[in-house]
Amino acid sequence: MQTLLTPASIAGAAYLVAALLFILSLAGLSRHESAKAGVGYGIAGMAIALVATVWAVVVEAWGSASLGIGLTLLVVAVLVGGSIGLWRARVVAMTGMPELIALLHSFVGLAAVLVGWNGALEENSLSGALRDIHHAEVFIGVFIGAVTFTGSIVAFLKLSARMKSAPLMLPGKNVLNLGALVLFVALTVWYVITPALWLLIVVTILALLLGWHLVASIGGGDMPVVISMLNSYSGWAAAAAGFLLNNDLLIVTGALVGSSGAYLSYIMCTAMNRSFLSVIAGGFGIAAPRAAGDDEEGEIRELDAEGAAALLRDASSVVITPGYGMAVAQAQYPVAELTAKLRERGVPVRFGIHPVAGRLPGHMNVLLAEAKVPYDIALEMDEINDDLAETGVVLVIGANDTVNPAAAEDPGSPIAGMPVLRVWEAENVIVFKRSMAAGYAGVQNPLFFRDNAHMLFGDAKQRVEDILRVL
Ligand code: NDP
Repeated sequence: MQTLLTPASIAGAAYLVAALLFILSLAGLSRHESAKAGVGYGIAGMAIALVATVWAVVVEAWGSASLGIGLTLLVVAVLVGGSIGLWRARVVAMTGMPELIALLHSFVGLAAVLVGWNGALEENSLSGALRDIHHAEVFIGVFIGAVTFTGSIVAFLKLSARMKSAPLMLPGKNVLNLGALVLFVALTVWYVITPALWLLIVVTILALLLGWHLVASIGGGDMPVVISMLNSYSGWAAAAAGFLLNNDLLIVTGALVGSSGAYLSYIMCTAMNRSFLSVIAGGFGIAAPRAAGDDEEGEIRELDAEGAAALLRDASSVVITPGYGMAVAQAQYPVAELTAKLRERGVPVRFGIHPVAGRLPGHMNVLLAEAKVPYDIALEMDEINDDLAETGVVLVIGANDTVNPAAAEDPGSPIAGMPVLRVWEAENVIVFKRSMAAGYAGVQNPLFFRDNAHMLFGDAKQRVEDILRVL
């Protein structure tokens, strides 16, 4: 009797368990309280997948002459890759996470390109429809992988400020993008009919250029959506590699990442009042932004720590709206202390968290949780916006684009239509920042010139500590 327990079937069962753990991981990550467990499920799923894959390969190749070399290469690759990954993850600052994630996405894209090329160069005995499907898989896999690769590199360069965040506005950019897509479809059909290697070279170059152009054309304000979109692309690239390698788990995992990333991009677009199609089409329909700070001038009112403490002491209520600058300054600990102190004195304090504050989704929530700020006083933008008009003092700690009235009031602004925290409606606003520099989107902020706004210049952490001393 033939046994059902072959290495492939045992690995298949392990893959099923791993896939379920990945689904549990995604579900866990959707809530603060269960996020840690979600990460645990993800690690367990990945460990099972890795062990099952290596085990199945070793058992299949047992006794063959090349096993020793193959296994050595595998162990060396895992050790080198694992050590670099562990080192980067340990040393990366929270503010550097988005660029690290973008770089990791580029590796997934590159891997998909290499797997695709390997699929094209490797001998196979396929014929008929199966052969055509194989060629389509190769071509599509290389295309998605190459777009993901260069797109993620541009995202990395933009997020790490090695490239300007303003959108690249080539003349006829939409026609270029659309032309590249049409060419890709035509080349795919051609390659399936006649799989010539030069066609694969052409599509690789085309996709590398397209990925670069798509992300370079998107402005700073839309980068959060781009990151989750590239996350989605990297998932589809992995799924395409899974088809070529005949690996069910890679297909399932790739599809999970691809679809959850696409859904997250959609949610972010809706939250920021952006058109999903416009962003994935490289900023389709978005007008060239005006230069930063070209028409916003006026008087500002400066404040010192004593002045800020006096306003806070008398405040009927306080709302804190943190942004990227709080992360840079690592001001979350003194901010948490200030919150506790004010609450002890009977001043109600809450936080207003904008969905794209900082440089990655949930950035502010993570920082506040780190500093042990109670979850129940950290409210989403939509939950707090209507209360801002009745708020005594709003502390804008290192936030800029996310509290910019131009988004709500100036239809010509590059961030027009993006929902923002309406902090300017409060009785008093204290803005913590180091200079009059613009935020990530490169747009001047008229809030700073409003009558109820007070600028408290300097490093946010030091300034909050100064206020704590006075209080
Ligand atoms: P912004 O980048 O708009 O502004 C940050 C502000 O912090 C700046 O005005 C800066 O001014 C100030 N700052 C920097 N360092 C310090 C410091 N040490 N002490 C005090 N202030 C400091 O931040 P927001 O959070 O308001 O907006 C996020 C922006 O990032 C949006 O445009 C968003 O689209 C984009 N983005 C968001 C991502 C996400 O997923 N959340 C991902 C990628 C981009 P100064 O230099 O004068 O101190």
